[in-house]
Amino acid sequence: MAGSIQDVRRACVDAARGVAAQAARCGAALDTDDSFPAREIEALSRCGLLRAPLPARLGGSDLAEPLCANALALVLSALGGGSLPLGRLYEGHVNALTLILRYGTPAQAGAAAIRAQEGELLAVWNTEGAQGVRLEPHRDGFRLEGAKILASGAGFVRYPLITARAPSGALLMVVPDAATAKADLAGWRAQGMRASASGAVDFSGLFASAEEIVGGPDDYHRQPLFSAGAWRFAAVHYGGIAALFDLARAHLVKTARADDPHQAARLGQAAIAVETARLWTFGAAQAAHLEDAEAAVAYVDLARLAVERAGLDVLELVHRSVGLSAFMRPHPIERLSRDLATYLRQPAPDRALTEAARFLARSERPIGEQWERP
Ligand SMILES: Cc1cc2nc3c(=O)[nH]c(=O)nc-3n(C[C@H](O)[C@H](O)[C@H](O)COP(=O)(O)OP(=O)(O)OC[C@H]3O[C@@H](n4cnc5c(N)ncnc54)[C@H](O)[C@@H]3O)c2cc1C
Repeated sequence: MAGSIQDVRRACVDAARGVAAQAARCGAALDTDDSFPAREIEALSRCGLLRAPLPARLGGSDLAEPLCANALALVLSALGGGSLPLGRLYEGHVNALTLILRYGTPAQAGAAAIRAQEGELLAVWNTEGAQGVRLEPHRDGFRLEGAKILASGAGFVRYPLITARAPSGALLMVVPDAATAKADLAGWRAQGMRASASGAVDFSGLFASAEEIVGGPDDYHRQPLFSAGAWRFAAVHYGGIAALFDLARAHLVKTARADDPHQAARLGQAAIAVETARLWTFGAAQAAHLEDAEAAVAYVDLARLAVERAGLDVLELVHRSVGLSAFMRPHPIERLSRDLATYLRQPAPDRALTEAARFLARSERPIGEQWERP
């Protein structure tokens, strides 16, 4: 993807829309337990989107740079519109590259760049059960003990970025070679997002060298990157919400019900919710890079909840408008509703709301100027 920065951004968005169209066609076939969109990931690699988040000096398109936030939002929402599981997987890939580029050594960034260029999908696996993964000192590195859960791409991602506890209790990021880790998708019997392969992965017995530790203690939770990065999943959500609207509108037109005043009113309300999600998503893509870290986090916290609310509203309006057909396989609204309802569940929504509210309570700026950038 060479050319001016505008050309490069346009090419990324066009490529994402192409892959999204392919993913939408294959969505029903992949709506089974233990599935994974391998062909779509290959397509992301072929069109350059797996390496696009890298800086140009590492062979990428700078897609994860603040300057390209709008383009990345368009890419994420396009992929989410085609397939929420694919959007989830790509978002994890972008997150992993972002963390390695921010906190890793030049050698680690170089290794991640080569992997992305060679078509490896990366991921961030932080969620864990009671135990999590522990690092036990071993020769010049560590022996890993324990498992991650809800890890998207489990069994398919070879070099995930995981969080693990050192003997001191510090949380560290590690990028182990997970080729022989034990992935188990048996617990991922979810209502939706089946094709995201979000299973458990047991790393017990694997080794990581000191060179595979990324950053320092608790860098993973360092703000604003940790919370402000949530704008990316909101962008994928928004893509799914917009796709749901489009499907419902097509259904109403096809069944000659769109002119009915009740249906028209619900369609209008749903359009307001979709546009609300879009405005917050693209606002958050910019606000995530505000110099004031606390302001950035607060805006993104509010944005992810506004997008969640819009998603729940559109689900309800679409179900009322389309009726029972929306619950019948293989209607695409049926699958998309399950995927969206499942993927809208993200960590600690109550805390996101109350922490944003606390920030605003402390702030002395009028709300109208709070996130203003001259
Ligand atoms: C499709 C999908 C893919 C995923 N892939 C990955 C992945 O690749 N890597 C990864 O690390 N994770 C992944 N996750 C996990 C994800 O990051 C979250 O951990 C998960 O979605 C949390 O959902 P939850 O509803 O259980 O959240 P919770 O945070 O448990 O929230 C549930 C409810 O409890 C409330 N709550 C939260 N904490 C408390 C508390 N201490 N006291 C009282 N109430 C509380 C919340 O506000 C909310 O109302 C994935 C999740 C999904 C849905």
